[in-house]
Amino acid sequence: MDCIFCKIAKKEIPSNIVFEDEDIMAFKDINPIAPVHVLIIPRRHIASVADIKDTDEALMGKMIVAAKKIAEEMKIAENGYKLLFRVGKNGGQEIGHIHLHLLGGARLYENIRPA
Ligand code: AMP
Ligand code: ZN
Repeated sequence: MDCIFCKIAKKEIPSNIVFEDEDIMAFKDINPIAPVHVLIIPRRHIASVADIKDTDEALMGKMIVAAKKIAEEMKIAENGYKLLFRVGKNGGQEIGHIHLHLLGGARLYENIRPA
């Protein structure tokens, strides 16, 4: 399967890694939309939130806990941040490997409206 985030997880494609363990990885978004923009992914391929199973609960929780710790390390926790999962076409998901966006470092507009 030709999945760019699987390749990043296996380090076949370079990325700016900010955290990794045996289950998950976090790296800087290549096209940041905020001063801090990090993507947290599971190493195992899961296409989207629409594909997670009951047995993925701990893995998804681990991604959120990692996001919280990265926000603290990057000094954006005090002023707050956003965590975002895009899901499918209407959610604007472009990469079919589940990823949690950590966005912060500035006050962020919502700007969510029908396209
Ligand atoms: P989404 O629209 O939620 O699927 O977000 C995909 C994100 O992946 C975008 O913010 C892209 O800038 C980011 N992205 C795409 N390719 C790479 C890459 N090679 N390294 C880091 N981030 C990437
Ligand atoms: Zn993948």
